[in-house]
Amino acid sequence: MSPPAPQADRVIVLRIRRQDRPEASHRWEEFAVPRRPNMNIISCLQYIAAHPTTTDGTSTTPVVYDSNCLEEVCGACTMLINGKVRQACSALVDRLGQPSSGAGEAGEPITLEPMGKFPLVRDLFVDRQRLFNDLKRAKCWVPIDGMYDLGPGPATSQELQKERYPLSRCISCGCCLEACPQYTSGNHFVGAAIFTQVKLFNIHPSGAVLKEERLDVMMDEGGIADCSKAGNCVVVCPKNIPNLESIATVGRQAVIHAIKRFFSG
Ligand code: SF4
Repeated sequence: MSPPAPQADRVIVLRIRRQDRPEASHRWEEFAVPRRPNMNIISCLQYIAAHPTTTDGTSTTPVVYDSNCLEEVCGACTMLINGKVRQACSALVDRLGQPSSGAGEAGEPITLEPMGKFPLVRDLFVDRQRLFNDLKRAKCWVPIDGMYDLGPGPATSQELQKERYPLSRCISCGCCLEACPQYTSGNHFVGAAIFTQVKLFNIHPSGAVLKEERLDVMMDEGGIADCSKAGNCVVVCPKNIPNLESIATVGRQAVIHAIKRFFSG
């Protein structure tokens, strides 16, 4: 049974790029959604899932998208909204576009597209596995030896906690990679999300055990030398992570690592 239609004073139109399979051609479909106060893009997609009919009255399939936490923590619902990469859960309809433009009202649709830097699964759903593979490749974790009680870890100063905390807020959403001119499907560039996690774990007292191995990866193909420092990663990051500072730090660490390696043979 369909859920009851919400009381609407206005209608939002969403123009959504649809693609049934990775190898299929895409199409655009428009949906009208009754406007309610404080709607986000996910709530629009939920309405469309319950009422998969386009504005011209054609019955279609529900739009496929990825989401989980709905509070900008899981990073799953990244997509292009009006051409800008961001999280659908924190994209409030009332704040999209210029307030005076009436963005989203009939005649001026809100456009939704999948990220273009990751393989498409279907509609707005992409596969971010490359990001997670690169986190593994760069050993972005604190190594532990077994599952037994290791006792308390080394104490960290408040200064170090303050430096690490902003970096730990990364949600692996991929916004920084989508916006990066260096990150393409044809190369192995790891991008800002990985540089920030390399810094986070290299300055962790226990994580530093793997610092040399991480820097080997950073000096490899797709590593720090391939960054053009365009800075888009900072502009689009929903967590305001200072990615350019991470890039500078990892760059310095990699140079010192290379010099040490040169003299140690
Ligand atoms: Fe997302 Fe920011 Fe992490 Fe990049 S650095 S994956 S934009 S949270």
